[in-house]
Amino acid sequence: MKAAAAAGLFAVQRCRVCGHVQYPPRACCAACLADDPAWEAAAVRPGTVLARTVLHHSHEEMFRARLPLALALVRLAEGPVVLCFAPDRPAIGNAVQVRAALDATGHAVLEAR
Ligand SMILES: [Zn+2]
Repeated sequence: MKAAAAAGLFAVQRCRVCGHVQYPPRACCAACLADDPAWEAAAVRPGTVLARTVLHHSHEEMFRARLPLALALVRLAEGPVVLCFAPDRPAIGNAVQVRAALDATGHAVLEAR
């Protein structure tokens, strides 16, 4: 996930047995328990906003500098639900494109636009 994000790609896992798509990654398929799900990376993944909120407080200095900070819960077209930064503040039900990148500390983060 982190290596893909460093390359500007959002990687999810797809089960080689049943086709279930999952994120975050796991050692085995959450649907059928098959080992070694395959990785699939894409520049963007389409999804739909399920919920959104705006943070006005954070104990983390890095986030405090960026407040207010908009977040969205997005259901990817492939099934998984992910929490993303959403700087454009999309409305519930809006179609968005989710990208992965590394933040200033080197952690993989998701952004919906
Ligand atoms: Zn499976």
